[in-house]
Amino acid sequence: MNAIAAVLNQPDGPFSIEAVDVAQPQAGEVRVAIKAAGICHTDLVVASGAMGLQFPAILGHEGAGIVDAVGEGVTGVKPGDKVLLTFNSCGACKPCQRHEPAYCSHFVPLNMIAARGDGSSRVTRDGKQISDNFFGQSSFASLAIANERNVLKVDDGADLAVLAPLGCGIQTGVGGVLRSLGAKAGEALVVLGAGAVGLSAVLGGQIAGCATIIVIEPQEGRRTLALQLGATHVLDGQGDMATAVRGIIPEGADIVIDTSGFMPVVVQSVNMIANRGRIGLLGVPGSLDAALPVPVVQFITQGGTVRGIIEGDSEPEVFLPELTAHHKAGRLPIETFIKTYRLDQINEAIDDAHHGKCVKAVLLID
Ligand SMILES: [Zn+2]
Ligand SMILES: [Zn+2]
Repeated sequence: MNAIAAVLNQPDGPFSIEAVDVAQPQAGEVRVAIKAAGICHTDLVVASGAMGLQFPAILGHEGAGIVDAVGEGVTGVKPGDKVLLTFNSCGACKPCQRHEPAYCSHFVPLNMIAARGDGSSRVTRDGKQISDNFFGQSSFASLAIANERNVLKVDDGADLAVLAPLGCGIQTGVGGVLRSLGAKAGEALVVLGAGAVGLSAVLGGQIAGCATIIVIEPQEGRRTLALQLGATHVLDGQGDMATAVRGIIPEGADIVIDTSGFMPVVVQSVNMIANRGRIGLLGVPGSLDAALPVPVVQFITQGGTVRGIIEGDSEPEVFLPELTAHHKAGRLPIETFIKTYRLDQINEAIDDAHHGKCVKAVLLID
């Protein structure tokens, strides 16, 4: 046994801390000694088994650590490098060739099901396979096998406990506003939900120079946090939100970004936008059948847009360095909403997240 991992033995947990063996990296792979790993909502969705996860399994997809070993052909990183881990992509399909790896044709098998196409795993417990390779990393463990495509070298001085969530939640929120929806200075932005992704969207709006940033969020503590991070107005989500938004910006919002997946408010977004307004959807609703009815004549007249967003349209090798630079310059104070836990406190961290006691939990691994 050369590692410890938070292993999920059955749907919805609990996670149990167990000794495991993590194999040497194969061609194109990178073995990383994980130092920090954020918990993201997707971990909890997948933990239910709804996406076809085979148990036992190791989740975790916001890992950060130090390269421990590299497989044949890996030239981008070397042992001892500090790295952030992010989502995986194939590099060969049309979207990848267009520099849009978040829309990789193989995104689901490469990220969501914690398996490899050949059925192999790099992690075993008492000689038996454990599902790994979740988002090309399975980083709720002290050692993880990633791929050269989904590791990014950062400065030796980087604080991995703060930067780990850049690999999914933070790049999704900031990138959703800046890259997917192209926010511009002076525009009016509405953010639905003020979890880690929503607050990151607020910070994206700040970076773009949005003149008005309205956050709709039921929890008072999170509304306060949103105001501290640059929201100009907050609403609690009660009643007719489109009317409330137009009470603040009569012409409507240039951008509405949903990070909540809470459909009773999401359906109101179509009446919040201004002419040429853009609606971005990235919060996953509880039901696969959730639908957003678009008033066709109104949308034609307004030139409105609705689009789905994965990972903030991030091209990690380009966007993660931009985000680390924003953080260094003080424009991305994400430590404001990060709470750290030890790996063996993972169940407590998830419970706290469910009960609104923390916004972004990051596990620290010795
Ligand atoms: Zn691809
Ligand atoms: Zn995520």
